Amino acid sequence: MGRPATPDAAKNRAFPGMNCPHCGCPGAGRNSFAMTDTYREIIYQCRNPECSFSWVAGLEAIRALSPSGTPNPAVKIPSGHAYITRRKFNANPAR
Ligand SMILES: [Zn+2]
Repeated sequence: MGRPATPDAAKNRAFPGMNCPHCGCPGAGRNSFAMTDTYREIIYQCRNPECSFSWVAGLEAIRALSPSGTPNPAVKIPSGHAYITRRKFNANPAR
């Protein structure tokens, strides 16, 4: 609805960087899946051959910084600031 077609180019897209939770080495994004309009899951694999841990990470639109010029009525993202302190997050992790 009003959105330009986006190619299914997960293989050509750079994934957000994330280090392995176990050994701290960089993870390689292998694939991603849009679960909703605001939430995507990304599969990572550790680049350390001695570790080889693989995991799923979540990427979510959590706060709006400026309104969309072509809003999707089904998408509800609360307004907020670009940064939130860890203390504030820990006080209300449900956002
Ligand atoms: Zn690792």
